[in-house]
Amino acid sequence: MKEDALSGQHALITGGGSGIGLASAAALAAAGARVSICGRNRKRLQSAAKGNRIFPVAMDVCDEQSVRNAVSMAVAENGPVNIHVANAGIAESCGFDEMSLPFWHRIMMTNLDGAFVSIRESLLSMRTESWGWIITIASVAGLRGLKRASAYTASKHGLVGLARALSEELIGSGITANAICPGYVDTPILAKSVKEIAARSGKSEQDALAALLRLNRDRKLIDPHEVAATALWLCLSGSEGMNGQVFPISGGQV
Ligand code: NDP
Repeated sequence: MKEDALSGQHALITGGGSGIGLASAAALAAAGARVSICGRNRKRLQSAAKGNRIFPVAMDVCDEQSVRNAVSMAVAENGPVNIHVANAGIAESCGFDEMSLPFWHRIMMTNLDGAFVSIRESLLSMRTESWGWIITIASVAGLRGLKRASAYTASKHGLVGLARALSEELIGSGITANAICPGYVDTPILAKSVKEIAARSGKSEQDALAALLRLNRDRKLIDPHEVAATALWLCLSGSEGMNGQVFPISGGQV
């Protein structure tokens, strides 16, 4: 990878302080992009940014004004946004019958509304340059149903639909939109889910993880850098023809 492949470009990554977002920030920065990472946990953002060419900016994707402020600060620091990775998300599990409306709203608001609002704000700035890349980090749950995860599954199907619809709406603008659909990736969100499954089922955490991994044909967790590599590839010169596409990284799960 040439260190200047993304030189002069500004990549904004929601949920960039940990897991897939942080791995993507590192990959895009290594390719020469100026990177802004956003999330609620300022300390984590600051420590992730330390020593790297990365700008940390607090943002709660559930709060429209917070998104506006954060994108403005990122643009003031790094220039117009060219790459937007809509990655911020939460995963909580609940049987459908017991699910409350506030539970449903919390997941949809973070995973889907948050992607909509943050992409819209970045897009305003992308349009000034007439080119850019939008990537939604959906999930295999955007392509198939997951048990006890109907809100999460619906939100991730929404992110796939959002990328597809945007790609249609932006045809001819120089801006592409694609969705990445990871399987089980070794990040804090997965560790939390494994703990919850173990507590609910009485299984050990090891057995709870093994049950999840049975869905991946190679029985391995995916490394966040594998997801980041696909995000980077989608932003490189030569990938312009990828538009409105869905890229599963799922160990053969889908
Ligand atoms: P992490 O928990 O490491 O990342 C989630 C990120 O989202 C955190 O950095 C968190 O930052 C941010 N976030 C959550 N809520 C908000 C909010 N309201 N406003 C701003 N940022 C928020 O796990 P992953 O890296 O795995 O998750 C990244 C994405 O990948 C998620 O959308 C997840 O659904 C998706 N994914 C993950 C898979 C996996 O197995 N790990 C599989 C498929 C998809 P902070 O707390 O600072 O706000």
